[in-house]
Amino acid sequence: MRRTRNAKIVATLGPSSSDKDVVRRLFVAGVDVFRLNFSHGSADDHRARFVMLRELEKEMGRPIGILADLQGPKLRVGTFVEGFVTLKQGQAFRLDLDPAPGDAKRASLPHPEIFAALVSGAELLLDDGKLRLVVEHCGADFAETRVAVGGKLSERKGVNVPGVVLPITALTSKDHRDMALALELGADWIALSFVQRPEDVTEARAIIGTRAAIITKLEKPAAVDQLDAIVAVSDAVMVARGDLGVELPAERVPAIQKRIVGCCRRLGKPVVVATQMLESMIESPVPTRAEASDVATAIYDGADAVMLSAESASGKHPVEAVDMMHRIIGQVESDPLYRQLINASHASAQPGCDVAEAVCCAMRSTVALLRAATIVCYTSSGHTSLRAARERPQSPILSLTPNLAAARQLSMVWGVHSVHSRDVTDVNQMAEVACEVAKRERFAEPGQFIVAIAGMPFGTPGTTNLMRIATV
Ligand code: PGA
Ligand code: MN
Repeated sequence: MRRTRNAKIVATLGPSSSDKDVVRRLFVAGVDVFRLNFSHGSADDHRARFVMLRELEKEMGRPIGILADLQGPKLRVGTFVEGFVTLKQGQAFRLDLDPAPGDAKRASLPHPEIFAALVSGAELLLDDGKLRLVVEHCGADFAETRVAVGGKLSERKGVNVPGVVLPITALTSKDHRDMALALELGADWIALSFVQRPEDVTEARAIIGTRAAIITKLEKPAAVDQLDAIVAVSDAVMVARGDLGVELPAERVPAIQKRIVGCCRRLGKPVVVATQMLESMIESPVPTRAEASDVATAIYDGADAVMLSAESASGKHPVEAVDMMHRIIGQVESDPLYRQLINASHASAQPGCDVAEAVCCAMRSTVALLRAATIVCYTSSGHTSLRAARERPQSPILSLTPNLAAARQLSMVWGVHSVHSRDVTDVNQMAEVACEVAKRERFAEPGQFIVAIAGMPFGTPGTTNLMRIATV
C-alpha cells in the first residue's frame, strides 16, 4: 500500500482507540506512527497495544512506527482536605513541603526543586495555566504567594513554572521504569517531556543508546532558548504546543512553532507539530475552519508530521480526525503555492559542505530536471533517507533498509515511503533492485527515470557518496 502524501500523521492511542478494529481503521485512514502516552495507562495496557500494533504491521506489510511518550517531570500540587479549593484573586496562598492535605490558605507542593529555584516575583501556573500565583517571598521549603488569577483548583493538578530553569533532570523514576518497558517492547521512538537543556537529552541517550530514536518535546521556554543545541543532540523534535502555550503566552506560540520547524529543516531533523490541531473533533465530526487552517499551516511550513492527541485517544471521532488530517495534507500538497513555499524556505547546501550533502543537493536538482518518478535511497541507519528528506525533493523517497528499526523510524519522516528490504552489494545490483522495487511499490512505470542514492561500501552507515540514474 502506498500513501500519496509527503507529510505524516502521528496519532495517540487511548480509550477511544483500544480495539484492533479501530486501530486498523486508523492506519488505513492514514496513521503512520502510533503514539503511546505513558502519562496514562498501565504496563499491561501498553504491552497489549504493542502486540496489537506489531500484528497490524504484519497484516499490512508496511513498517509502522511506535512512539513511546514519557511523562517527564510533570509537577503537581498535593491533595486537599475537600478535594479542591477555590482561590480568590488578591488572596495570599502558601505552598510548602508539608504533605498534609491543603485548604484555602495553603497547599502541599511536594517538589523541593521548585522551592530551590524560585525567586520572588516568579510566577506559578496551575491547572494548564488557568490559575496564576505570584511569589512574594520564599525559602527552601515554602513560598508565600499572591493569587493573580483565581478559580477552582482540584488536587493533583499540574504546576508550571515558566521562565525558571529547574534543577531537575528530564527523567523521573517513573520515566526510568516506563523507558525500560518501552525499550523491552521495542519502541521505535522515545519522546522526552519537559526537556530544559541539551544535557537532558544526552542523559537519556546514555541509557537508550541506539535501541530507539529520541524525539525531544519542546514545551519549556528554557529549551526554546537553546533550540539549536537541543535539536542537534535529538533525533527529532515535537512542537508540544499544549504545555508550551501554558509556559508562554499563547500569542507567542505561532512564531516559535515556525522557528522550531525552520531550525529542524535546516539541521535535517524530523519535526512533529502537536496538540489541539483538530481539538473540536473530540466532540464534533467536523473541525473548525481555524483548525483546518492550523494543520495546513504546519504542512505549508514543511513539518514532517502533524499529531493527534485527545482527538484519537479519547475523542468521539478518531477515524474521522485522521481522515480529515489526511485530506487537509492532500489539499495543501497539491497546491502549487506549497511547492513554491517549500522551495523558498529550503536552505541549500553551501560550498564546503560534506559529501553526503553534496550528493543530496545533486539528487534534488537531478530529480527536478529529469522529472524522475522516484528517489530510491539505500540506507542502513536511516541517515541517507533523512538527508534526502531534508532536501524536500519533488519526487517521493523510496527508502530501502535491511534495518527494521530504521525502517519503522523513517515512517515519521517527510516524503519517505519506508521499505524493509535486503541489502545490495554492488552498483549494478543497486540499479536493478531500485527499479524492481520502484515498480513493485508503484512508484515508477517502465520508461521513467529513477534516481538512486547510496553509500559505498554498501551497508556502512553515514557514507552517502553515490548517485545513480536509471530507467525502469
Ligand atoms: P503532552 O505533550 O500531550 O504529553 O502534554 C504535548 C504538549 O504538551 O503539547
Ligand atoms: Mn506536554
